[in-house]
Amino acid sequence: MAYISTLFMQNFDNLTLPKPILERLTRMGFHKPTPIQAKAIPVALESGKDILGTAQTGTGKTGAFVIPICAKLLKNQEDAVLVLTPTRELAVQVMGVFRKLLLRDSHLRTALLIGGAPLGRQLKALNASPRVIVGTPGRVYDHISNHRTFNVGKITLLVLDEMDLMLDRGFDVQVAAIMKGMHGLKQRFMFSATLSARMEAIAKKYLKSPTRLRVGNTDSPHENITQEMLVMASKEKYGALLA
Ligand code: AMP
Repeated sequence: MAYISTLFMQNFDNLTLPKPILERLTRMGFHKPTPIQAKAIPVALESGKDILGTAQTGTGKTGAFVIPICAKLLKNQEDAVLVLTPTRELAVQVMGVFRKLLLRDSHLRTALLIGGAPLGRQLKALNASPRVIVGTPGRVYDHISNHRTFNVGKITLLVLDEMDLMLDRGFDVQVAAIMKGMHGLKQRFMFSATLSARMEAIAKKYLKSPTRLRVGNTDSPHENITQEMLVMASKEKYGALLA
């Protein structure tokens, strides 16, 4: 994480976060906020302030919304968050950060709504009145419209993570349908790696006078990340990974 460590600016202590969150951040090895976290956390902690953040994976953007949202969830029992992500893997990752930060508050229930996973456990999680719901648009929409097992009217905070990828995957239809039922929404956060004209239009449609935050070069993938694709049989994957 050379990129993150060279750009640290201030301490989490300066960001008026609740003590349990500060303790858990230390335990997770997060001693200082990354630039996107330093910019986003103070804005997100204000009530009703929408954010349009442009930051790539690897900049700490997950923490930029999970940390202030956890602070809000601990402070206000009425708050409940829905995070939509373009992939199952990202949903699992985001939920992992929520669970680590909220570890001791076991009364705070979570629900992970992703495709390819059995419905039974998701129904059980939804029945327990979760206040943190993370999922992919297809499965979340399925719960809302086909099974009628998820009432989005209770959601007060919404995160549209990697919105550019959700657009690329054609999820804008489900996102629009999901947002239709959100009558209790107080604050929205939208993150993307790049800001195209299409993203601008979507931001205009869904966000209310958002604060714009930008970190790094948002036109191309991060220079420290090299992407490679290797095509192979499933049984060869582990060996190739170790090579
Ligand atoms: P992300 O861009 O959210 O996927 O985060 C990239 C990596 O940076 C993840 O492995 C995080 O655990 C790590 N990370 C995020 N925020 C911090 C922080 N404040 N201090 C140290 N590591 C961090």
